[in-house]
Amino acid sequence: MADAVLRIFPEAKVAIGPPIEHGFYYDFELPRSLTEEDLPAIEAEMAKILGEGGEFVKSTLSREEATARLQQAGQPYKVELLDDIPEGEDITFYDHGTWADLCEGPHVESVKQVRIDGIKLLSVAGAYWRGDSEKTMLQRIYGTAWWSRKDLKNYLTYLEDIAQRDHRKLGRELNLFSLNPDFGAGLVFWHPKLGHVRRKLEEWWWELHEARDYWPVYTPHVAGEPVFRQSGHLQNYADMIWAPMDVDGRPHRVKPMNCPGHVTIFNAVRHSYRDLPRRFAELGTVYRYEPSGTLHGMLRVRGFTQDDAHIFCTQAQLADEIVDVLKLVDTILTTFGYQYTAYLATRPEKSLGTDEVWEHAIAALVEAAGRQNLGLEDDPGGGVFYGPKIDFKIKDALGREWQGPTVQVDFNLPERFDIQFNDADNELKRPVMVHRAIFGSLERFAGGLIEHFAAWFPVWICPTPVAVLPITEEQMPAAQELFDQIRAAGFRAVLKSDGPLRKRVRESELDKIPYMAVVGAREAETGEVNVRVHGKKQQTTLKVADFIAALNLKRSSKSLDYGLEIES
Ligand code: ZN
Repeated sequence: MADAVLRIFPEAKVAIGPPIEHGFYYDFELPRSLTEEDLPAIEAEMAKILGEGGEFVKSTLSREEATARLQQAGQPYKVELLDDIPEGEDITFYDHGTWADLCEGPHVESVKQVRIDGIKLLSVAGAYWRGDSEKTMLQRIYGTAWWSRKDLKNYLTYLEDIAQRDHRKLGRELNLFSLNPDFGAGLVFWHPKLGHVRRKLEEWWWELHEARDYWPVYTPHVAGEPVFRQSGHLQNYADMIWAPMDVDGRPHRVKPMNCPGHVTIFNAVRHSYRDLPRRFAELGTVYRYEPSGTLHGMLRVRGFTQDDAHIFCTQAQLADEIVDVLKLVDTILTTFGYQYTAYLATRPEKSLGTDEVWEHAIAALVEAAGRQNLGLEDDPGGGVFYGPKIDFKIKDALGREWQGPTVQVDFNLPERFDIQFNDADNELKRPVMVHRAIFGSLERFAGGLIEHFAAWFPVWICPTPVAVLPITEEQMPAAQELFDQIRAAGFRAVLKSDGPLRKRVRESELDKIPYMAVVGAREAETGEVNVRVHGKKQQTTLKVADFIAALNLKRSSKSLDYGLEIES
């Protein structure tokens, strides 16, 4: 591609062009801005180059020779890249025809091994040289390369699927959420349908936590600055905390984290070892400053609600507590059909606490994972300065990885806030503190769910599972009765009677309503309903009571599909 771009723009300067997952990119300084309309011409030039054949020839040059060669070719970015190659390491070039590139290799032997019908240039974007906004803005061309036309086609279909599921697109089309620049960048408005989804998630979340003896707590959104100085957040995460506001002449901050609030509640009374473990849970909204360029729909925002909880326990209780969190993680993730991988993040270079406490905490995490048969990938040095953690990555329906739950052991806050309990030997001791979040951020989790399910939500969280459609006005009384029964069973529904049935069916499908309950003359007479199920070819006619029972079963089992298993 770089060869092709240079043939079209002989004055082009080339920067870096690495392989990436599913493809490659290359950065150029060009005499004019490219658009996606330029890509076919570059592809055509690439086809010509591949048609010419030609071997790739490797050569190893000294630093002086390499510098001279690149200077002569008028490629200053490449000259700069030479500095990154450590002394004593080989400097290699790969040439074919008139094109030569600084390249570590290995490399295919000939351009004949590359199939043009497996290649597609995808997009153009701006990229700063070395990712530094002080430096030149270059133009980046992204492409993808496959062994065959078929593989390429499959990949393009996959990209199309991702684009169709984009939560920003679906959010707009289905009226799920919005962002409003007048209110502020990165602040999410949950519209009624997604509000319903969130409410169902929250209700279930509280149920799961109450069963595990977590207690609900509520803490203020704003706190005086000394609180975040004591917690260390102001010193360690200054850039992330929103600017101060003046209250009675004292600077206050909106909270970037819920932890200090929970510590305040713990410290409000004296604790005996008999009280431990104490588990505090809060759907706590926090605010963090993210640079405007990184904001992205619901996935990267400036205000979000964490499904936060903190556990205060003894060292001896730590492994049991973590086992319970791991169980909760598994329950929540598998309910949505997510696969996941767990990473054990160990001590980073800059960190607090003795070797002994780190080893104990890591041993507890490893023991807990072992008891749960949970494999742990290594993330050496990936822990937070205050303690080790297990982070989860979740894999969605399209095989993409998302940031998932986290469970972190903390030695820092108990020290900083002088948290104590009275032990069995009547000595004051420090409890261990565990931070954990399963959804992480409700905003990000919901954005992920929209894409994972393509907004076809499972019945138990689906905003509107049923559209009741009478065939003609004459069936309105029967349809109204059906609608009332569905509502009485605790499901939201719509009753649509205006216009031709085919149009109403189409609208319901576009609204992503999984069940269309059609009432015709025959159904009105027999007390039945004809149900069309999203994604199923066959329609089913069944008794109204059986339909509602089937919906109930879908809801109570948190089923991931819409198939109506009817007991007959
Ligand atoms: Zn915390």
